[in-house]
Amino acid sequence: MNFKEIVQPSSLEEAYEYLANHQKAVIIGGGVFLKLQKREAELGIDLSRLPLSYLKEDEKEHHIGSMTTLREIEISSILPQCMVESVRQIGGVGLRNMVTIGGSVCGKYPFSDINTALLSLGARLVFFKKGEISMERFLGENYVLNDILTSIVVPKVEYSTCRYFKHTYTDFSLVNLSVASGENVRIAVGARPGRSVVVPDINTGHTSEELLARIEFKDDIRGSGAYRRHIAEVMLTEILEEGLLWK
Ligand SMILES: Cc1cc2nc3c(=O)[nH]c(=O)nc-3n(C[C@H](O)[C@H](O)[C@H](O)COP(=O)(O)OP(=O)(O)OC[C@H]3O[C@@H](n4cnc5c(N)ncnc54)[C@H](O)[C@@H]3O)c2cc1C
Repeated sequence: MNFKEIVQPSSLEEAYEYLANHQKAVIIGGGVFLKLQKREAELGIDLSRLPLSYLKEDEKEHHIGSMTTLREIEISSILPQCMVESVRQIGGVGLRNMVTIGGSVCGKYPFSDINTALLSLGARLVFFKKGEISMERFLGENYVLNDILTSIVVPKVEYSTCRYFKHTYTDFSLVNLSVASGENVRIAVGARPGRSVVVPDINTGHTSEELLARIEFKDDIRGSGAYRRHIAEVMLTEILEEGLLWK
């Protein structure tokens, strides 16, 4: 992407002013995915000078600044296991040092690994003007952004893990799956290909085939929907057999 002008605001208010007053303004997180796009934008709003790179926690939740890189998530010793595991094979360390969690969420990429983990954890997104919205609603609706994601709130859970299937280490996932159990159990599936979704109406007695029956898997150049479904079922069976998901 080519920008006619790039600004580096020193406050969120200033950044939002730019966004609200320029029809063709684009927010820059790590800027890595934007760099791949072949289009022009009037104004790039680079958030790198704002204090949005942090990992904090309180008794019940983690608070992750939107400019936190995936590498910081990978080496964190406090975040839920499924988040840490989900980013480990995203590109190489160099890429993970640049890409941000804010860019990953806001891009709503149909191959995303981290968004599946966040969905299984029941994460909430905090926008500067619009306030809080659930990850589920954000991914599920064609929510018009025009706002700045400031942080992500992740409830603490007792157990979580994720699985993904890639042809090679740095490839996009063919399919991914994440589970978390805290107050209740949540299972999310992504890279179907398509935005990550939560598995509805889950029940301890269900097999992986029954749990995934209502999830849509599609064909693309990487594999067929039937192949994806089978891999997802195998990954979920493996998790269920570990016996740690249900209390
Ligand atoms: C070569 C390559 C391989 C990859 N492989 C994988 C993979 O295997 N699995 C995976 O899950 N991901 C993968 N990714 C995606 C990557 O993890 C990031 O999700 C992606 O690069 C976006 O992060 P960014 O910080 O670069 O965002 P940017 O490119 O800066 O922004 C992405 C979008 O989000 C918007 N945005 C950014 N920050 C904010 C904010 N705070 N508020 C509102 N809007 C915002 C931007 O305007 C833009 O529309 C890959 C990316 C690349 C380049």
